[in-house]
Amino acid sequence: MRTIDYHMHTYFSGDSEANPREHVLKAIEMNLDEICFTDHRDFDYPIDSFELDVENYYQEIQSLKEEFKDQIKIKWGIEMGLDLDHQEEIENLIQQYPFDFVIGSIHVIHHTEFYYGEFFKGKTKEQAHREFFEETLKCVKAFDCFNVLGHLDYIVRYGPYEDKTVDHQKYQDIIDEIFKTLIQKGKGIEVNTSGYRDLKTCGFPNFEQVQRYYDLGGRIITIGTDSHTSDRVGENCLNVAKKYQEIGFDDVSTFTQRKRD
Ligand SMILES: [Zn+2]
Ligand SMILES: [Zn+2]
Repeated sequence: MRTIDYHMHTYFSGDSEANPREHVLKAIEMNLDEICFTDHRDFDYPIDSFELDVENYYQEIQSLKEEFKDQIKIKWGIEMGLDLDHQEEIENLIQQYPFDFVIGSIHVIHHTEFYYGEFFKGKTKEQAHREFFEETLKCVKAFDCFNVLGHLDYIVRYGPYEDKTVDHQKYQDIIDEIFKTLIQKGKGIEVNTSGYRDLKTCGFPNFEQVQRYYDLGGRIITIGTDSHTSDRVGENCLNVAKKYQEIGFDDVSTFTQRKRD
């Protein structure tokens, strides 16, 4: 089982100041086999800007790839906000550039977002969580441009609720449908280790859900820290790789020009 970090942000993302070179050095220090940069692009984020200077981003990662080629494998990817209101623009952007890997993430639903809380207004926790999973299902059915679904239960981080945890069982029928759709389309999931910070014991999603994905036939899996600062690169990736092994996965998946290696 290789150890990878396939979800990292740098100063090309609207919400990070991190220098990509520092990420590479940290990844080497952490003994990772391979990394992929996945800076943000969201078309309709209502408050902050998630524009992406794709050309310069490409050039900078290419030169790091060359410079460090004897020490670590470096890939160039993107975390694309899947948003049904912008489907054509999103698919077009991905077609235009030679991304190695695309994370599809749900950050915005009909012009509302989670971080500042707009999405939750007037909803019970159950309503909000159900709507989130239903929208995720619609997106995984509609979009083809991504390789793995990012942070399946991302919503657990947010919301004005005292207990933010997701009761997966309540929505298991929808989550199963998400998994089945991904499997049938040849797409995978990630475990996002930033969950270890928020939930203390596991990533997004938890390993019961990863087991569920595996039992339904899912085999495409990546690991990502969602680092916005270099000190977090590689954090908990080895723990997740070990868990994957226990579940039964042979290896993590890596990608080149959006195809599995
Ligand atoms: Zn994300
Ligand atoms: Zn991210």
